[in-house]
Amino acid sequence: MRPCRKCSSPLTESNSRPTDWANRIYLCRTCDNEERNERRAKNPEAAQARMKKWREANPEKVRERGAVYRENHRVSINEKAREYRINNRPHLKVIRLQWKDTLKREVMAHYSGGPVPECKRCHYLDLRALTIDHIEGNGSAHRRELKGGGVRMYQWLKANNYPLGFQVLFMNCQFIKKCENVEHSNPVKANLG
Ligand SMILES: [Zn+2]
Ligand SMILES: [Zn+2]
Repeated sequence: MRPCRKCSSPLTESNSRPTDWANRIYLCRTCDNEERNERRAKNPEAAQARMKKWREANPEKVRERGAVYRENHRVSINEKAREYRINNRPHLKVIRLQWKDTLKREVMAHYSGGPVPECKRCHYLDLRALTIDHIEGNGSAHRRELKGGGVRMYQWLKANNYPLGFQVLFMNCQFIKKCENVEHSNPVKANLG
């Protein structure tokens, strides 16, 4: 085996890339990295373009390396993310509110059957007082299952491709619906209410 053409140290499988020998590249890893760094310093754009080409050709390696990197740098990544959250609190709050509002509007519109969410009974329009109603009335059990209503419910409905059994009601109309259901199933209790 030839020695490294730069530093003349003998090449082994551990200090160089055996796959390079076949291409007649005789460099130890140290010298190879040095040359790479020199090339990169001389022409950073070309190095970036090569890197981009390589990433596009090797998506699974990119994923693997990304996973290894994240695993090895978990603490600093989390620290940076935490710092970002702290420094951008008001901005992130606005983004989250916008995201919630968009999601709610989307889910409500779907169950209203039109572009503008409205109460199924009285056609009330103010989104803030509209709610997703479980038509069969098992809402509280479902919310317990999801560990919450509101956003969690909207996310669940969307993720499950908008299952049947839900409608949009104005909160007052939902309250009245509950009273009516109690009257049907338990007239005594309804009279006491
Ligand atoms: Zn060398
Ligand atoms: Zn209504």
